[in-house]
Amino acid sequence: MNLFLPEEVLNACRILAHNKKESYVVGGGIRDLILGMAPQDWDLATDAHPREVERIFKGKGYKVIPTGVKYGTVTVHINGVSLEITTFRKEANYFDYRRPSKVKFVTKIQDDLSRRDFTVNALAYDPLRSYLCDPYHGLADLKNEIIKAVRDAEERFIEDPLRMLRAVRFSAELGFTIEQKTKHAIIRNVELLCKISAERVREELNRVLMAEHFYQGLEAMLELGLLFVIIPELKEGWLFNQYHPSHQYTVLTHTMEAMRYTPADLTVRLAVLLHDVAKPRCYSRGKDGRGHFYGHNVLGSEMAEDILRRLHYSNKVIKDVVTLVREHMLELGMGPAGQRRLVARVGRRLIPQLLQVRLADIMAHSRNQVVRSLEEYEQFTAKLEQTLKAGGDFALRELAVNGADIIQEAGVTPGPLVGVVLRKLWDEVLEDPGKNNRVYLLSQAKKIITTLNNQG
Ligand code: ATP
Ligand code: MG
Repeated sequence: MNLFLPEEVLNACRILAHNKKESYVVGGGIRDLILGMAPQDWDLATDAHPREVERIFKGKGYKVIPTGVKYGTVTVHINGVSLEITTFRKEANYFDYRRPSKVKFVTKIQDDLSRRDFTVNALAYDPLRSYLCDPYHGLADLKNEIIKAVRDAEERFIEDPLRMLRAVRFSAELGFTIEQKTKHAIIRNVELLCKISAERVREELNRVLMAEHFYQGLEAMLELGLLFVIIPELKEGWLFNQYHPSHQYTVLTHTMEAMRYTPADLTVRLAVLLHDVAKPRCYSRGKDGRGHFYGHNVLGSEMAEDILRRLHYSNKVIKDVVTLVREHMLELGMGPAGQRRLVARVGRRLIPQLLQVRLADIMAHSRNQVVRSLEEYEQFTAKLEQTLKAGGDFALRELAVNGADIIQEAGVTPGPLVGVVLRKLWDEVLEDPGKNNRVYLLSQAKKIITTLNNQG
């Protein structure tokens, strides 16, 4: 087999060969190359020990970073290309399901490939001999578009349960099917995923959510049980009938349907995934037999916060998703004042994402409802565009008076009352932007103070 590799990669292999060391291109790089995709990074495997790798490349004047010498990895930079060079190794005694407690360096590439997760990731290519080492028939699985565990699937998943999620991630990124036995081993061991650190789970979940075939990945996560291990709260919506003419789907099916209509934006996808998470906890039934879910957006935003904190998402992602879940009910009939209040509450930056969440939600309602809602949605967005054009940032700092003005000009003593007055003025301005002038607002401030004082 002849594969075209960048000169920098070939160079590294030549340098190692010159030092009587074997080297192979391994991992995602070789997989993507065979698939005709542009590899994201280059991993090399070699029989040279990490210290030797360091010495060899430093000797040649290259920049070398001992990334993970303990685990056998050294990073070498050649002409701006970064190569991860790892000594052939086997992992032994996985403890606490996180990291192998020991890595053992080995001398044969076949032994190194035997510890890898999936057959399509267990390929090694020696470009100097144009030789593909493929003991687990990964090439055939690449051609047949199959994700299959190396050797015994159950053993691979018990060694490192994150691999269960990685199986779904690769299937979502590549559009591949997960092989039957590999699937069964996931179903049987799915609970082990709890042992994995939140950060590792979150990173793989993000990759599923952002993958080209993300919906397929999400369905696989549901089918295999991974979704409910990562976010058990979603299980409450499973088979949960909504008893409402707008909802032909159960809560979870509606969520899954809505996911189909999301753009490739992690915040939006997380928000849609969680937008109805509280519905089962807010369920009640009206006299007419219809299901109601009062307050599910508010409770949902609190649950979303707990879930995302548990998964160690960044504060920014959490804040945005929480806002989107809280606001996802977005009343499409609101007038300009309501729209201004909405933008002030949500923040102008998040408005496009809120509209995407709302649209995805609409698309997953009953068909007869979708037609009507889409019309309302179109009208709403057209009006909102006008509102946004006419306004600035819709932030309190745009008020024509500030705290100092309220203290000096309206005679309010410094303290929390200043904020209360400013808020009231801001509400008025959102209602009628024409009132945003200093003279009016200062006289209004005095009136507000008098009323508040009279109320005690
Ligand atoms: P990508 O870089 O697109 O994520 P990749 O296949 O290169 O894909 P990496 O996480 O970079 O994935 O890992 C490189 C290689 O190391 C994999 O192809 C696989 O052979 C091996 N590998 C990585 N993580 C594991 C794991 N948890 N268990 C077994 N092998 C793994
Ligand atoms: Mg990689």
